[in-house]
Amino acid sequence: MLLILLASMALFLRLERRAKDQMELYKDQFPGLPSRISRLEELAFNLWWSWHPEAKALFHMLGGNGAEFRAQNPVKLLHDLDASVLEAASRDPRFLRRFDAVMARFDAEMNAYGSWFYSKVADPGKYGIAYFSAEYGLYHSLPFYAGGLGFLAGDFLKECSDLGVPLVGIGFMYPEGYLHQKVASDGWQMNESEILDRKHAPISRVLDENGQPLTIKVPIIELPIYFEVWKAQIGRVPLYLIDTDIEDNFPWNRGMSARLYIGDPEQRLIQEIILGIGGTQILRALGIKHSILHLNEGHSAFAILERIREKVERGLSFREAAEQVRSTTIFTTHTPVPAGHDVYPFALMEKYFGSYIPLLEIERDRFFRLGIDPASPDAGFNMTVLALRMSSYCNAVSKRHGEVAAAMWHHLWQDDPGDRTAIDYITNGVHVPTWTDSRIGSLFNRYLGPNWLADHDNPSIWELMDDLPAEELWRAHRLLKMIMIAVMQERARERWMEQADPNIILASGVMFDPNTLTLGFARRFASYKRASLILQDLTRLNAILNHPKRPVQIVFAGKAHPNDNSGKQLIQQVFNIARDPTFGGRIAFVEDYDVELAQYLVHGVDVWLNNPLPPFEASGTSGMKAAMNGVPHLSVLDGWWIEGYNRRNGWAFDCDFSRNSDLDDSKELYTILEEKIVPLYYRRDNSGIPQEWITVMKESIKSAVPNFSARRMVKDYALKFYQQALRYSNGQKQ
Ligand SMILES: *Cc1c(COP(=O)(O)O)cnc(C)c1O
Repeated sequence: MLLILLASMALFLRLERRAKDQMELYKDQFPGLPSRISRLEELAFNLWWSWHPEAKALFHMLGGNGAEFRAQNPVKLLHDLDASVLEAASRDPRFLRRFDAVMARFDAEMNAYGSWFYSKVADPGKYGIAYFSAEYGLYHSLPFYAGGLGFLAGDFLKECSDLGVPLVGIGFMYPEGYLHQKVASDGWQMNESEILDRKHAPISRVLDENGQPLTIKVPIIELPIYFEVWKAQIGRVPLYLIDTDIEDNFPWNRGMSARLYIGDPEQRLIQEIILGIGGTQILRALGIKHSILHLNEGHSAFAILERIREKVERGLSFREAAEQVRSTTIFTTHTPVPAGHDVYPFALMEKYFGSYIPLLEIERDRFFRLGIDPASPDAGFNMTVLALRMSSYCNAVSKRHGEVAAAMWHHLWQDDPGDRTAIDYITNGVHVPTWTDSRIGSLFNRYLGPNWLADHDNPSIWELMDDLPAEELWRAHRLLKMIMIAVMQERARERWMEQADPNIILASGVMFDPNTLTLGFARRFASYKRASLILQDLTRLNAILNHPKRPVQIVFAGKAHPNDNSGKQLIQQVFNIARDPTFGGRIAFVEDYDVELAQYLVHGVDVWLNNPLPPFEASGTSGMKAAMNGVPHLSVLDGWWIEGYNRRNGWAFDCDFSRNSDLDDSKELYTILEEKIVPLYYRRDNSGIPQEWITVMKESIKSAVPNFSARRMVKDYALKFYQQALRYSNGQKQ
């Protein structure tokens, strides 16, 4: 046992050291930092601080509270602070006590050896997991995301850090990818892109052995494309980011990693070559050996080919190499929506892979067959098909999505009845320390005991929720609701100062009242999410909203993809109703939905509304974030809610496929609101507390935290997939 421990320790250290040699650039960015507190720099560059309230508080002590801090990040804070403030902090015993306590915890948590993964899963002597994703949602100072897929990946990395899973992430930096949303006075979405300020973001440039920026040439693209590599540190987990915006590139190639999901197929193909093949080369350049490849959605599936090519280069046949790679590859599919599955014309594939195919030592036909969907063989080369065929472990992201994905793809294995992969499922989860508000967290500390966070996927702890006094939960929730409304009003004030049209101000929730039952609907405005379902019958809706005794208000937020006009029309429809005085200011559309606004909304509304057209919501995660904070879910039975709903923790309505009509579905929604939700919310005891409502809130927390946490999810991946794949890999010569 001891030997095993030592061996794994040695290997882990080697991996760490190797990685460290090459990226100490962030060191000494702050020469003015007094030596007693010089490790603040390390802390600022590690996103670990963002899910540890005590570390956050440390930076607050330096930088003051409120908006000023929110808009910043600790790296920027350390850049901007006066030397005298830091000097004073380094002599302030109160600050130093906290600093030492935070650093002690940081050091303990950065050490992987006592972690869950090392004690429960890993065989020693292995190198770990390379995780590829086209987007990551981590924090608002690192805007590398479009939506739910990105947050899933970000939460995944954070939880891998917490559990000690030896994982490295690969992705894009998207320096121009962040689009701020503003709505014109006619309700049409306008985008303003924000350029990432690399100097002040918590990322550091990766250097090569000569101290120069590590530069990688993407193979197989004729007019060469180069990229530099940056690193974000997520607790124990490094995330390497590709940046093509460098001088070595032709101007038209500099933007290749500038934005998410380019629309033009050829550009998009190049982007995915950069991610899959270029990303694999990062690992090679840094000497990061990995036993397992995990693809978060199909965008990065070319990484499979590059891993095979490396093995063929070392002398294996294509067959052997493919078998090894397949047995150690995990593929997670995230959506049944067609736009989520890239298909490239064969001519384009030929253009880029013509010279690559021989390197795999495989015939052209066989190569193309890897990506052909037998159901539509002429459509082109399908990235999802490639990933499904070449991964032994495939999963969907909820039970229902598992069934849908299996039905979508079962024909892939028709001619090949062997033991080919079925599509399993691992239901998504969200990172509990990130998404539970600290005020709710302190109630948990008090009533569930100090171990609740360390052991939060253990359902028995959550039975103690019954001991939490209803008034205290209600008080905490009301505070969060008032904070949310204050934030909406603050945003409106800022818009007013830019001489915005009064309609925009009226539509932004300035009339909101904290005593009114508040529904929240915030997510991307993709058509299948049906933002306007609740607007189908405006007369009936108005009667609900403006009921004389039991009013209701609704806050909407969300962006449409810049090329998605139907999504923009939905926003316009919501906006026009929000500014219409008939509704008495009880509908709001808040601009620029992002991770920061999401935090306020999922904590601050009373009910989280979700009404996609089944079966298109593969999982959905915003409802989990809300539920953990005592905001019950009102949702159609789709995605995670099929597993999550237990009749006590929220509300469900079924959408009848046979009628498949928004109007009929909306009637179900109105009826639940009128008959169940509104009366329950306004039923108060003598001290004005809605006891029965609070019981639903508690049930919501109790059922969501243990089952829909990223902890449960990552443990599932580790025990179902990583463990087996590692075992296989242990049996192979590397
Ligand atoms: C969680 C989250 C999402 C995903 O929400 P869904 O309910 O899955 O659509 C999107 N955007 C932000 C900012 C989030 O925090």
